[in-house]
Amino acid sequence: RERVLGIDVGGTTVKWAVLETRDATVVARGSIPTAGDPHTVAADLAAVAATPAAGDTAAIGVGVPGHVDRSTGVIRFLPNLRGDWLGFPLAATLRAATGRPVTVLNDARAFCLAEWLLGAARGHDDVLFLTLGTGVGGGVVSGGALLTGPDDRLGEIGHLVHDRAGPTCGCGHRGCLETYASATAIARAAGRPTAEDVFLALHDLQANAAVEAAGRAIGETIASLCAVLPADLLVIGGGVGAGLPRLRPHIEHALAERRDFIGAVDVVAARLGADAGAVGAALAALNDLDGQATPT
Ligand code: BGC
Ligand code: ZN
Repeated sequence: RERVLGIDVGGTTVKWAVLETRDATVVARGSIPTAGDPHTVAADLAAVAATPAAGDTAAIGVGVPGHVDRSTGVIRFLPNLRGDWLGFPLAATLRAATGRPVTVLNDARAFCLAEWLLGAARGHDDVLFLTLGTGVGGGVVSGGALLTGPDDRLGEIGHLVHDRAGPTCGCGHRGCLETYASATAIARAAGRPTAEDVFLALHDLQANAAVEAAGRAIGETIASLCAVLPADLLVIGGGVGAGLPRLRPHIEHALAERRDFIGAVDVVAARLGADAGAVGAALAALNDLDGQATPT
C-alpha cells in the first residue's frame, strides 16, 4: 500500500499522478489528451495504470467532470465530455482491466479533498472551492467535513443560475455561473483564443469586460451561497488560477456588498497547482482502501 494512482479526467486533458502515501508526495506524473467516448477513455486510463511508473500502485482513484454514483462508480451526468457516458460503469470497467480497486468521484470534489488536506484550506472547517477550467467545478467543506452526497453532486456551484437569459451551458440550460466564469467562457466573451490571453490583455476593453463579468458572477454566486452555507474561505484553482489577481477585485467587491450578512470571506489561490485533481483522486482511493473490511 505504498503508492496510489490518481487520475483527473478533464474536459480536454487527462492528468495522472502517483502518490507516495507515506509522505503524500507525487513521485510520477503525466498527461494525455481526453478522448471523447467512454470506452476509449477507459482503455486510456487502463494503459496509464499499466505504465511502469504506475504499475505497482495499490489502488486507483479517478476524478470525472460530472456526477457519479459513489457506491458503484457508474456515471450519472457528464456535461462537458462528448460520447454516451450516461450509465457507463467506469469503476467496474477499470477494475476489470487492471485488477485493482477503483474509486470514481467528481473531479472538483477530488480537487477539494487535496486542497483541504494538503493545500490552501488546510486546517479550515468551512470552505467553498471553485475550479475554473473547461467547466466550473465546486465543493463545500462544512463543519469540518467534505460534503458529497450519493451521486457526488453536492458542490455543483458551477450550475447555479447567474442569469437565466445568459449563454447556453454544457448542461443544456442557460446562464449558469459556468457560462461566465469557466476558462472557455472567459475566452469566448473576450473574443480571444484562451483565458490566458485574456488575462494578459491588460488594456483591452473586451478582455476587461469579460474578466469583470466572470469576477462579478463568481462573487455574487458565492455571496448568495454564503447566506445559507457559512464559510470564511474561498479557494480558487483550475486552469485560470493564474488569472486570479485580475478576477479577485471583482469577486471581493461582490462579497463586500453583502458582508454585513455573510461576514468576511477570504479569497485565496489553490496551492497544489495542476496536480490537485489527481492527488485528490488518489487520496479518495486511499481512503476507500483504508475503509475496506479485511476480506475473510
Ligand atoms: C460539471 C462538474 C465538474 C466541473 C469541472 C462542470 O460542468 O458539472 O461536475 O466538476 O464542470 O469539471
Ligand atoms: Zn450549467
